[in-house]
Amino acid sequence: MINATLKELAALLAGKKISSVELTQQFLSRIATHNPDLNAFITVDEEASLKQARAADEMIARGEAQPLTGIPLAQKDIFCAQGWRTTCGSQMLHDFIAPYDAHVIEQFKHAGAINLGKTNMDEFAMGSSNETSYYGKVKNPWDRQAVPGGSSGGSAAAVAARLAPAASGTDTGGSIRQPAALCGITGLKPTYGVVSRYGMIAFASSLDQGGPMAKSAEDCALLLNVMAGFDARDSTSLEREKEDYTRGLDQPLAGLKIGLPKEFFAAGLSADVAQAVEAAIAEYRKLGAETVEISLPNSHLAIPVYYVLAPAEASSNLSRFDGVRYGYRAPEYGDLLDMYSKTRAQGFGAEVKRRIMIGTYVLSAGYYDAYYLKAQKLRRLIAQDFTEAFKQCDLIMGPTAPTTAFNLGEKSDDPVSMYLSDIYTIAVNLAGLPGMSVPCGFGADGRPVGLHLVGNYFSEARMLNAAHQYQQATDWHSRKPRLPGEE
Ligand code: GLN
Repeated sequence: MINATLKELAALLAGKKISSVELTQQFLSRIATHNPDLNAFITVDEEASLKQARAADEMIARGEAQPLTGIPLAQKDIFCAQGWRTTCGSQMLHDFIAPYDAHVIEQFKHAGAINLGKTNMDEFAMGSSNETSYYGKVKNPWDRQAVPGGSSGGSAAAVAARLAPAASGTDTGGSIRQPAALCGITGLKPTYGVVSRYGMIAFASSLDQGGPMAKSAEDCALLLNVMAGFDARDSTSLEREKEDYTRGLDQPLAGLKIGLPKEFFAAGLSADVAQAVEAAIAEYRKLGAETVEISLPNSHLAIPVYYVLAPAEASSNLSRFDGVRYGYRAPEYGDLLDMYSKTRAQGFGAEVKRRIMIGTYVLSAGYYDAYYLKAQKLRRLIAQDFTEAFKQCDLIMGPTAPTTAFNLGEKSDDPVSMYLSDIYTIAVNLAGLPGMSVPCGFGADGRPVGLHLVGNYFSEARMLNAAHQYQQATDWHSRKPRLPGEE
């Protein structure tokens, strides 16, 4: 049961082989057993989950089931869920109970899915290892010495360890794809504007995008069907018709043109990751795809550009955490200014403070032109590289991350080396394109490797098709880690 796909779970629920209450209980009991060690969830509320499950069972009994009705899903703790503690991985929101639902949470609710709990994450989604969380590190279920990746590390670990059938994540510079790669699961970051950011706690608003994390591409398609869609409450939500992302899954791949950026197969990529990715590309050729070498000449600028723009936006977004309206307030202070500064000094962790300081610096009157404006111009060049590339190919492929999961603690004191783990993913956010990570093997250390797919705007269905066909021909996505006390 714990390995079943979403479609299989829906069939079991529809056939009354299991009830949503039983299914939810099964996952809650796995969480109770394994979460003390893995730390993938920050908040679990059994009573709230089971109440939703009872309602879902009634929906099924009334014949009103939709594809996800009755299925428990883990939600990244960046999404506000009414009545649930929503921390965003920060002490700043330690006691914050969300008064309303994020668009994504609301859509899952309407679909009859169950909120199984809120997953751990880097503080305010700033990080690549889940180690900046105020709620402690998450362990990678494949190797508990290793990080799960970040910032959606809790969601990735929960799905990999089968503590949840699937989960939500968010991706500002790689936070769905990189942890999916490091934990051996499938994750998709949609085109910017496809999934509403309403109620998703903001990090860098021009880059943030929510998306699905699951065992397979088909499961991601089913989740995206629910998550995506126009929402007037997010001014950057795109007014488009609802799509069925499962519609193209079964198309054969003959004639698919895959672009391989020469910059992605160069220095810095570890040999075992390169080998697994090349084997995956060979499999695509067997499936009928053609490959062509392409170039993304400005891709080396992506990380420096991102670390100007993302902190700039973050410094503005995070100014709302001032101890006045909600969240943490320093217990002792003098005047108002002292209350602000003590609250922020105590409430935010080191990485968040580093970003706020960089952000205010690059936006300051004297440096705005030199850093912020310059970075905006380079962002345009990076996006144009992709426009050129997509004249020659349908999809771009490469590694999701340059190495397999690194060890816990290995990069915590070296922010630049940590930032480099998103070297292949960040340009995709800067361009607003959709990207995906698909499990494609293991490194020399036995830790998972992810294949990165990048599509043109709105090509989610095509990407999901390519990933699904690969998953029909291989079984990397159905491999699972062995947890303590399990076969
Ligand atoms: N690792 C990147 C960062 O620290 C990206 C995080 C994300 O996508 N939320 O900013």
